Amino acid sequence: MKTKRNKGLEKIDKKHLWHPFTQMRKWEKETPLIIERGEGNYLIDTNGRKYLDGVSSLWVNVHGHRKREIDNAIKAQIDKISHSTLLGLGNVPSILLAGKLVKIAPNGLTKVFYSDNGSTAVEIALKMAYQYWEQKSEVRSQKSEVKKTKFISFTGAYHGDTFGSMSVGEIDVFVEKYKPLLFPTYKAYYPYCYRCPIDKIYPSCNIACIKNFEEILKRHYKKIAACIIEPIVQGAAGIIVAPHEFLKKVKGLCAKHNILLIADEVATGLGRTGKLFACEHENVMPDFLCLAKGITGGYLPLAATLTTEKIYKAFLGEYTETKQFFHGHTYTGNPLGCAAAIANLNIFKKERTLQKLQPKIKLLSELLAGFKELPHVGDVRQKGLIAGIELVRDKKTREPFQTEERIGHKVCMEARKYGLIIRPLGNVIVIMPPLSITTAELQKMMDIIYRRIESAAGD
Ligand SMILES: *Cc1c(COP(=O)(O)O)cnc(C)c1O
Repeated sequence: MKTKRNKGLEKIDKKHLWHPFTQMRKWEKETPLIIERGEGNYLIDTNGRKYLDGVSSLWVNVHGHRKREIDNAIKAQIDKISHSTLLGLGNVPSILLAGKLVKIAPNGLTKVFYSDNGSTAVEIALKMAYQYWEQKSEVRSQKSEVKKTKFISFTGAYHGDTFGSMSVGEIDVFVEKYKPLLFPTYKAYYPYCYRCPIDKIYPSCNIACIKNFEEILKRHYKKIAACIIEPIVQGAAGIIVAPHEFLKKVKGLCAKHNILLIADEVATGLGRTGKLFACEHENVMPDFLCLAKGITGGYLPLAATLTTEKIYKAFLGEYTETKQFFHGHTYTGNPLGCAAAIANLNIFKKERTLQKLQPKIKLLSELLAGFKELPHVGDVRQKGLIAGIELVRDKKTREPFQTEERIGHKVCMEARKYGLIIRPLGNVIVIMPPLSITTAELQKMMDIIYRRIESAAGD
């Protein structure tokens, strides 16, 4: 069904729009699905067809679309002011939100620096960590002293698409082309990663990865400013769930070797893992906490990098000492974004979102157990309301499907026909619904996926 209006939109899209992470030659040949409206956990296209938003509009939506409280908060803020700068001025919502964030964040994170997206939230943490050590070294004149200028990150990591965040990232297809422009970092193995040198012998993976991490720290700690990690769950790597206490051990070793810890909770933050922040699962207090995706409930581009008094104090000095943090985006602390974020956080409390999430998490794990019996399901991973279903050609040998088979893509396109929007990561089907999804909707979502895997992967 193609309306005249739809045809018009499609024509302009194909003529002028360049889509992210998309092979445009292929896009130009397909009929795009164009979303016009949203309603709760559903997206509605220009033909009036309704789809369950199983990907939370790319991992951002929290309480559903057109959530009254967030809509109203933004509208009310529009009636006051939509933007005013934080350079040399304050604005009301950014102040109130900072206070709220500090209250709910892991202990010790008392300073909030705003930006617009996950990549910049990470860039800011990297720059702050680097500058912290640069300014902290008491004997700055002693040139011979080894400086802490390097970072350690993990295999399979994804921290964003800007150059700094790509440098600490590791997913080949994303960063391969730009490698000559990236700064070198130390790479440690994230447990169960796709590069696993011990071939995913799961129990030993945890021990081997920590050992590998410790060895790098022991050898190079004098040069390492900070370690950056996606706590508990690596998202873009294919929903890789770290073993129990891996994060805690990483934190312990960082502390022991005087290395700062940057927790990139851009994806895991704001409830998706079952707690407000993934770090809470293991009582880990990072030196930096990066938030974006879900912070406004999936409404507006806003991000925050939280840090401690210790870091903040190293940036204090006389104006002429040039110790200030030289960073700031034009829309930093945007009042509309901050108003949306405040409303988003208030809903967590008012609706007891996290308590209500627990039965959904339990249901999801029960439903996922059934997937393990499917002939082409090689692995199922879950933390909270995030899950990944890895499809393999051969279950016994774990032989993967070839990239050109696009099995994940195929399953997701088929799911669309049944009214579900999901997006894969390679051969992994990603389950990332809004926290507001009902148990009935979750059941329906998993049912559609089950059947689509059954038929798409069956030869
Ligand atoms: C999405 C993501 C980012 C990048 O966020 P953008 O808003 O797309 O720049 C960084 N880190 C993690 C863990 C992410 O999932």
